[in-house]
Amino acid sequence: MPVTDLPAKPALELLIAAPRGFCAGVDRAIRIVELAIEKHGAPVYVRHEIVHNKFVVDGLKAQGAVFVEELDTVPDGAPVVFSAHGVPKSVPAAAQDRGLAYLDATCPLVSKVHRQAERLVAAGRHIVFIGHAGHPEVIGTFGQVPAGSMTLVETVADAEALVAADPDNVAFLTQTTLSVDDTAAVVAVLLRRFPSIQAPKGEDICYATSNRQAAVKAIAARCDAMLVIGAPNSSNSLRLVEVAVREGTPARLIQRAAELDWAFLDGVAVLGITAGASAPELLVRELVARLGERFDLTEREVETTRETIAFKLPRELEAA
Ligand code: SF4
Repeated sequence: MPVTDLPAKPALELLIAAPRGFCAGVDRAIRIVELAIEKHGAPVYVRHEIVHNKFVVDGLKAQGAVFVEELDTVPDGAPVVFSAHGVPKSVPAAAQDRGLAYLDATCPLVSKVHRQAERLVAAGRHIVFIGHAGHPEVIGTFGQVPAGSMTLVETVADAEALVAADPDNVAFLTQTTLSVDDTAAVVAVLLRRFPSIQAPKGEDICYATSNRQAAVKAIAARCDAMLVIGAPNSSNSLRLVEVAVREGTPARLIQRAAELDWAFLDGVAVLGITAGASAPELLVRELVARLGERFDLTEREVETTRETIAFKLPRELEAA
């Protein structure tokens, strides 16, 4: 068949949300592992996935990082990095006891919540923590304060059912990667039930989480469907899917272009694309390239805000 007789590809308009993908905390955490390998040589141990993205983790493994879940598996004398999600205080204490050289890649915005928790407990307040049970960030934040001084609330129903020993002496804090809307609903219940509850100084949900959610909101209504690139254990990525669905747009989370289910695009003329804070831009380009195999694409980026935040590296790596 002459080239000119090939059937035309169907048209597909892509609306690509911005900001999307890597945030300053993820960028910093990855850099810390890379610089630690440069400084100490391989292997460098990393406690937990440095950020929740398999592509990133595999890339660092190839450079010489070894991922472990607990310190017990780190050999004596080996350098170890703590993930961006933060760790309970017992973890650096155990590393110190064993004489391990450790680097803390906890995002500074997570550390900020840790310090607030310490201050509130020191001031005698009981903390209501809004977050997702079992997420490493939640485990890390609970581990900043003595057991029993913080209560986890996940939903509006939890907030309604909460019993406080001293209702006039409570404060709340939140995980950094929550749904802005869901959290506002939980906070509204807490404020109604505990009028004197102390709110965090500034927003605990981080700039990257709220910016990515706002960017999805800005395009969702114009899209027939949306794809979010991210890992199934990435809280902020899962929230992006929820935001799109709540706007009435079918949305799916995929880790790589290879996972794309073509049937999901049946009847789709406008497709929204975004990526969670731990997903590199390369994976967005990979997805666009795969879509281009079957569709005649027009691509438009819709930017709702420009991010300029960057975090400093730990002092010991600055000159590396
Ligand atoms: Fe830090 Fe927010 Fe990025 Fe998490 S999502 S690493 S809290 S900037």
